[in-house]
Amino acid sequence: MPEIAYVNGAYLPLAEARVSILDRGFLFADGVYEVAAVIGGRLIDNEAHLSRLEKSLRELRIESPLPIQTIADVEAELVARNELNEGLVYLQITRGAAGDRDFGFPSGATPTFIAFATKKNILASSAAETGVKVLTVPDMRWARRDIKAVALLAQVLAKQAALDADCQEAWMVDDDGYVTEGSSSTAFILTKSDTLVTRQNSTAILPGCTRKAVQSLAAREGLTLEDRSFSVTEAYEAKEAFLTSASNLVLPVVSIDGRPIGSGAPGARSRLLRALYIEWAMNPGAAR
Ligand code: PMP
Repeated sequence: MPEIAYVNGAYLPLAEARVSILDRGFLFADGVYEVAAVIGGRLIDNEAHLSRLEKSLRELRIESPLPIQTIADVEAELVARNELNEGLVYLQITRGAAGDRDFGFPSGATPTFIAFATKKNILASSAAETGVKVLTVPDMRWARRDIKAVALLAQVLAKQAALDADCQEAWMVDDDGYVTEGSSSTAFILTKSDTLVTRQNSTAILPGCTRKAVQSLAAREGLTLEDRSFSVTEAYEAKEAFLTSASNLVLPVVSIDGRPIGSGAPGARSRLLRALYIEWAMNPGAAR
């Protein structure tokens, strides 16, 4: 893969892609990002990702460096230049670099816009076959988790705690014992009465694009959906659990804190929803 990145209007080799050390993304995590999957050379559910990007920018009062359609063109150009068939496109927009390190918004700075593409197997996933193990950890993040900000330190620590415990994802838990979401994914459980539960959208979680698509597909299958908080105890007792994200689509969860979920193998509904999501992603013309 050629490894071509985008920095403020220029396409250049990844190794030569640079931004200033005064960039506010670097100094303050003053920026936002998006990640969209590419399957068969096509960006999946990209309108939803770009509309969330617009919302994140609006919430932080960062001016979009380009019209949204032009950002989509940059993504498509990166897919083409990197000859990317399957993988991810990452976008990041920060408030830019001022000549100082003042906390207040700089008057003259123009936003920094970088993007790159990464090759990754999205469809063929061993984690989808085996399922993933989840560790619960306290949610230590700030109060505006609905904004996809690059301030990801709490998620980095949560993910590493999971990896250290031989798990693949962390589910973060609020002060009342309710799961908010995964370190980089949305958390779902299927109750014993076949109700699909995921936390309601609010400032406490990121509104997942994959979450929304999967919920539509589940409703089409006749599953009952509930948008509500669920406790760690309820999750332990679930019939099935799974996570969703642009980069992993739908992944079955087979244990939480070492307790097997259901039979301890990927659940039938989780596997079905993964298959339906893939079918939908590859047939964008089909109704959602
Ligand atoms: N929650 C968090 C904290 C995330 O980082 C992600 C991945 N971006 C998600 C949920 C899933 O969102 P999406 O389905 O849009 O990738």
